[in-house]
Amino acid sequence: MTAHTDLPLLPNFFAGRWQTGTGRGQTLLDPVTGEALVRVDNTGLDLAEGFTFAREQGGAALRALNYGQRAALLGAIVKVLQANRDAYYDIATRNAGTVTKDSAVDIDGGIFTLGYYAKQGEALGEASVLLDGERIRMGKDPVFQTQHVLQPTRGVALFINAFNFPSWGLWEKAAPALLSGVPVIVKPATATAWLTQRMVEDVVKAGVLPAGALSVVCGSSAGLMDQLQPFDVVSFTGSAETARIIRSHPAVAQRSVRCNIEADSLNSALLDPAASEGGEAFNLLVSEVVREMTVKSGQKCTAIRRIFVPRALYGAVAQAIGAKLAKTTVGNPRHEGVRMGALVSREQYDSVIAGIQHLKTEAEVLVDGSAVALVDADPAVAACVAPTLLGTQDPVGAKVLHEVEVFGPVATLMPYDSEAQAYELIRRGEGSLVASVYSEDPAFIARAAAELADSHGRVHAISPDVAASQTGHGNVMPMSLHGGPGRAGGGEELGGLRALGFYHRRSAVQASSAALDVLCAPRAAFGVTP
Ligand code: NAP
Repeated sequence: MTAHTDLPLLPNFFAGRWQTGTGRGQTLLDPVTGEALVRVDNTGLDLAEGFTFAREQGGAALRALNYGQRAALLGAIVKVLQANRDAYYDIATRNAGTVTKDSAVDIDGGIFTLGYYAKQGEALGEASVLLDGERIRMGKDPVFQTQHVLQPTRGVALFINAFNFPSWGLWEKAAPALLSGVPVIVKPATATAWLTQRMVEDVVKAGVLPAGALSVVCGSSAGLMDQLQPFDVVSFTGSAETARIIRSHPAVAQRSVRCNIEADSLNSALLDPAASEGGEAFNLLVSEVVREMTVKSGQKCTAIRRIFVPRALYGAVAQAIGAKLAKTTVGNPRHEGVRMGALVSREQYDSVIAGIQHLKTEAEVLVDGSAVALVDADPAVAACVAPTLLGTQDPVGAKVLHEVEVFGPVATLMPYDSEAQAYELIRRGEGSLVASVYSEDPAFIARAAAELADSHGRVHAISPDVAASQTGHGNVMPMSLHGGPGRAGGGEELGGLRALGFYHRRSAVQASSAALDVLCAPRAAFGVTP
């Protein structure tokens, strides 16, 4: 990204004050028109000062409140964000190139998640300590007992976020962190940093949070990880490549900074072997695959990348998906006829086009996105890619198709010959965020869930009885776990109050019953497992 020095430079909110970088900065662009919008930069910021300020001022102020009071802060943030929604939709259209319904996934999804944690926190009321389990006798003397307690860590939570969810990616992490009493410093991905910066600006200007509770640093990530100390935590969302750098940083490798990683994922959809062409399970899979390929132009870490169907249905599924995709108009999100907007940048466009070429070394093209004309957008400028469905008759012999995540409107159809083979092929993703199962048979769903749960953070089963109420393969709901083992990063987020575990330290207090009575009142008891 080149710098356009005449453009506004977004200020960072750091060390309790607005600070503008002293460098030329990086320019954020409209991915549809190529228009230069704003610049971001953090050159010259005193990183040590900002981290200390958040840790000491923000942390102390948040910990002085109980869970119910911190929940009220989340409720106040919700009100601020709701009052400014129009501005957020405008920024999303300009900087992310999304159609309104895709902007909603990010903006309203973030606000909904905050509201959910405000309610959950309210239920914890005046508690100032969380109990993990019951008291346990330590020996013959019943008076001497152990009680596991959870206390908010006295550090700062650093979020290094991905470009695809500048709103939700902030709030799904900040809600449990702030509720726990841990101050937040967010570093949004540069390409779409504007929305994150603007939301933080609105919250700061509304004065609803104590000083130091929420900071935003835009631009380069250089030096941020170096600031982390043993009681801090870092939550990273992004590519597997950057995840490797974060994991091997001395803060994590030597200072034991707790680290949560949400990385890329080759999520699967599985059709019941007993499904029939045009049957309910068949139709449910086809609709969900089309939705997943097109929502946010496929730029969702949870999007379906691999579709597994009984071999006899390969051709019929390809045709049904193709027929629905043909109705997807792609182009300028400001045009009312457009259903799918752009990728976030021309860099991502190049990456997706190169990714499709890579997948094509092992797959045939079933639906050709490159043949689709854009609506109201210049193909030489706009980062628009139409949906592309690939397929292979030989998923067992394929390698790249199980390894390469193309972060766009791209999925690969694969036939399987037996149920056991389908599970084996799905596991070749080496750990994913979500697998969805399509069936009319509860016994098959239960079997598939048992087979897939250990390698997936979430198993989403769609049957005709839940067709209208199901929340979507790719939609991350705050009450359900988000994350996945292995290649997906090994992280865990959300899952209701489980999310608070990451921001708390567990300790076993061994003491007399009388002392434990004092320590634990008022308290809230629930099982939180970091
Ligand atoms: P990325 O290139 O890895 O960047 C992610 C973040 O890391 C950005 O804020 C980036 O800053 C920062 N960064 C880059 N290099 C860094 C370094 N050396 N040290 C510290 N931070 C560094 O990923 P992306 O391209 O933005 O995101 C796409 C990927 O994210 C996809 O693979 C997708 O699957 C994954 N994702 C996963 C989830 C999930 O929940 N599992 C959710 C969303 C996305 P700059 O932008 O300034 O370079």
